[in-house]
Amino acid sequence: MKNNIIIKVKLIILILVLNTNLIISAQEITNPEDTEVWGPTPLLINTPSQSLPSDAIILFNEKSLDNWKKLDGSKALWSVTKDTFTIKPGTGDIITNQEFADVQLHIEWRTPIVENVMGQNRGNSGIFFQQRYELQILDSFRNKTYVNGQAGSIYKQFSPLVNASKEPGIWQTYDIIFIAPTFNIDKSVKTNASMTVFHNGVLIQYNSTLKGSTTYIGLPEYEFHGKDSILLQDHGSKVSFRNIWAREL
Ligand code: MG
Repeated sequence: MKNNIIIKVKLIILILVLNTNLIISAQEITNPEDTEVWGPTPLLINTPSQSLPSDAIILFNEKSLDNWKKLDGSKALWSVTKDTFTIKPGTGDIITNQEFADVQLHIEWRTPIVENVMGQNRGNSGIFFQQRYELQILDSFRNKTYVNGQAGSIYKQFSPLVNASKEPGIWQTYDIIFIAPTFNIDKSVKTNASMTVFHNGVLIQYNSTLKGSTTYIGLPEYEFHGKDSILLQDHGSKVSFRNIWAREL
């Protein structure tokens, strides 16, 4: 009984102290300047022609695939013509030389005009962040497939909010914010990866929180990893790309 009274008194004192603190901190903010933050100052950058920010890392904008390689480190064999390049089916996926964690990526892509090829074989490619997390590329203009595998899906995890696809043969854009997962010292997941995606300027993924690495069969799981390359998928379709740039976040 006596103990109960002591606990109650302690609780009352604690509540009084907390309230007093709240009142004091609220009272301290009396000037508009009190809630102004003056630093660190965001870097002033330029956004000149074609909306290329001055601090962007250009991954492709002209004649060569020098910033890319095959998975075994050898030369990327996809076809380059002027300011575009196209998947050469069967030559395999390509990855960036540079490895990334959190990143903003702009990429323009075009699916080929093909007849009698439907579903997952119609203009399929994909962007795998850190070689693991796929944002699907597909001709989804009039092409039925499972919705968590259509263009703009985070493959087998999240369907796009809307289908913003243009018809095949027309250039399309993705603007992506990819936030990498983080891991604890014991290599367990600390925070999941997430993606926000604009397709042709339309929001189609909003802070979608990934369940793990992309898997074709089975459920996604995380595996421990560090920074890693951006991968473009060779899925046997002659998808073209141009104007690719990234900003580290
Ligand atoms: Mg794909």
